[in-house]
Amino acid sequence: MDNSQYDIIVIGAGISGSTLAERYATVLNKKVLLLEKRNHIGGNCYDFINDDGVLISKYGAHIFHTSFEDVWKYVNKFSEWRPYVHKVLSYVDGNLVPVPVNITTVNKLFNLGIKSEKEMIDWLDKTTIKINNPKNSEEMALSRVGKVLYEKMFKKYTEKQWDKKPSELSPAVIGRIPVRTTFNDSYFSDPHQALPKYGYTKLFERMLNHPNITVKLNTDYFTEEKNLGNFETLFFTGPIDQFFSYKFGEKLRYRSIRFEFETYDQEYFQSNSVVNYPNDHEYTRIVEYKHLTGQILPKTTISKEYPTWEGEPYYPVPTKENQELYEKYKKEAEKSEKNNIYFVGRLANYKYFNMDQAFKNALNLFERLNPQI
Ligand code: UDP
Repeated sequence: MDNSQYDIIVIGAGISGSTLAERYATVLNKKVLLLEKRNHIGGNCYDFINDDGVLISKYGAHIFHTSFEDVWKYVNKFSEWRPYVHKVLSYVDGNLVPVPVNITTVNKLFNLGIKSEKEMIDWLDKTTIKINNPKNSEEMALSRVGKVLYEKMFKKYTEKQWDKKPSELSPAVIGRIPVRTTFNDSYFSDPHQALPKYGYTKLFERMLNHPNITVKLNTDYFTEEKNLGNFETLFFTGPIDQFFSYKFGEKLRYRSIRFEFETYDQEYFQSNSVVNYPNDHEYTRIVEYKHLTGQILPKTTISKEYPTWEGEPYYPVPTKENQELYEKYKKEAEKSEKNNIYFVGRLANYKYFNMDQAFKNALNLFERLNPQI
């Protein structure tokens, strides 16, 4: 194919790639070619209506939340958003208790009657282990919730999810989950928490629906590379080690998930959108999509998440070894900037970004490269 008419080449139609494609096409009137290996846009946010009429996510639930005003403004250009405050329950000792740990969690699991923030702070003070600067996820959990809650709610979940001991993982992994000293049971703390009213795929369609943007699905960059002609800038959002032909030996590992979807001829399967199973079953959690989307239907679809090393790369695994290997690729990536090749997104930065951080990084990169705007 002749690709010489394009100014900008973007590899991957997830959040990072779609944002850059949209910005270059809309703001700078550049001709953009977006190559996507899969048969759909939207990256891991991709959702669709299944045979039973339920809007589900192919790669697991994506709950949008942000404190970045510019990101919130940006995503509102492409969709209406339905306010949705995410809550998670965890099945522990036969009870369903809130995660993050809050007063209700502690009262239920320890049969206590804590009623105020002050009492909860006192309880945590007695229970947690004082560790300044936790060095790994185990220390992070011990310092936040103490030994018993760590063992009941975090230890086994983390081992299932990552196939690593929490002591081998960066403190940031369990550090994603705060601890609440109140009855507040929302999963996230950001001021903007919402879901795109018609789903994520529709949002991406709106982002990419521009005469300057050509999307080629089912197109692998590594077979197209030779045909790309002269471009101004290339943005790569795939695995960084693959781009550099794994030149530093070992592959950067990504944890994956096998989703087992089940549809039931009943209105709801469980009482909440997400129920975690830290200690029971091989899956980590069950997601019921209708609780997220607000769809009204007589049937319901759920997915069980089985973490695995095979399959699509979802989660960079933040161990010391992987971080050191990534740093070598990062140096290569920095050198590529002089050839106008940039690495952006979760796979290319080998970093466990949330959706809003992915939007933010792409928007920031666009601004950095185009300071005149
Ligand atoms: N986690 C846990 N127990 C829980 C929920 C989370 O141990 O009930 C740990 C686990 O290591 C997980 C991490 O906290 O990978 C981050 O959880 P989050 O819900 O943010 O994971 P994601 O939704 O990104 O898979």
